[in-house]
Amino acid sequence: MHLKGRILVGPDDVRDEMWVVGGRVTHERPRTTREFTTVEGWVLPGLVDAHCHVGLDAHGPVDAATAEKQALTDRDGGALLLRDAGSPSDTRWIDDRADLPRIIRAGRHIARTRRYIRNYAHEIEPEDLVAYVAQEARRGDGWVKLVGDWIDRSTGDLESCWPPGEVAAAIAEAHRLGARVTAHCFAENSLAPLVEAGIDCIEHATGLTEETIPLFAERGVAIVPTLVNIATFPDLAVGGEKKFPRWADHMRRLHARRYDTVRAAYDAGVPVFAGTDAGGSLAHGLVAEEVAELRKAGLPAVAALSATTWGARDWLGRPGLTEGASADLVVYPEDPRADVRVLAAPRRVVLRGRVIG
Ligand SMILES: [Zn+2]
Repeated sequence: MHLKGRILVGPDDVRDEMWVVGGRVTHERPRTTREFTTVEGWVLPGLVDAHCHVGLDAHGPVDAATAEKQALTDRDGGALLLRDAGSPSDTRWIDDRADLPRIIRAGRHIARTRRYIRNYAHEIEPEDLVAYVAQEARRGDGWVKLVGDWIDRSTGDLESCWPPGEVAAAIAEAHRLGARVTAHCFAENSLAPLVEAGIDCIEHATGLTEETIPLFAERGVAIVPTLVNIATFPDLAVGGEKKFPRWADHMRRLHARRYDTVRAAYDAGVPVFAGTDAGGSLAHGLVAEEVAELRKAGLPAVAALSATTWGARDWLGRPGLTEGASADLVVYPEDPRADVRVLAAPRRVVLRGRVIG
């Protein structure tokens, strides 16, 4: 395949052409008389959805046929590298399918007893945290996922789930096993203790404030805001209002300041990545929408693109359009730097060198 047009190898590295030979990217014109199919347009590395769930729906684990559909929907939307932020299903079989996106797994969520959505997590108490983190670190692909805060029925509000000592020991154990740790956090007060305990990333991170943002920036703790999911907070608040009015009010306030929160974190130098949280209650295939949301929050276009391409791949340790990399790429009819909404309609999706859409 011969790609022509604008090849966006990096934010400051734009080339005119590129080839795909034997499923791999090359920037050197191949010495062959063979005719190549030409594909023209703006070429980006395959998009990253840095927070989704394959093998999960609103009620818990799903069968393989449903998981396959989820992965295909992501793929057709251009998301060719998924960071699975926790799944109760075994989706290892997807690794053997050349037509499905690559997945970086975080094992199964680890939550406190009765402090998360039913059927999703290992629900445990703090004394077992180190053991469960070690188990999921071995099962996953370099990540472990904790539920850092959730509604506490005794206070009727979001509260931290783990004592600092146990969570620090668990994160140290994950690091010893070569895995990074991330945590679901909506609230304000769960954040600083997790960062102090050595956490690598926070999902959602709606509770960031001017006190905690500098701490994240200083430690290089990344956030995956999942703004398309945060958009559902007002509906959640309506649903829980009667039983938990304090919680409902809290969720509304977090929602109201979500764009300011993300923008302030970005401005302070906190790494921000695009994730949709698809597979819980949200549909798959929304990564373009999430990038558009990051723009709405005030990230510059190139930063919003980087959050799903160059920057995200670098953070996850996966190559983009470098020489010899697997040809996982997406081609667009217009310049996504001029308007990121272009991402919603790829002209071609190429996975492992094969045109699949
Ligand atoms: Zn999630």
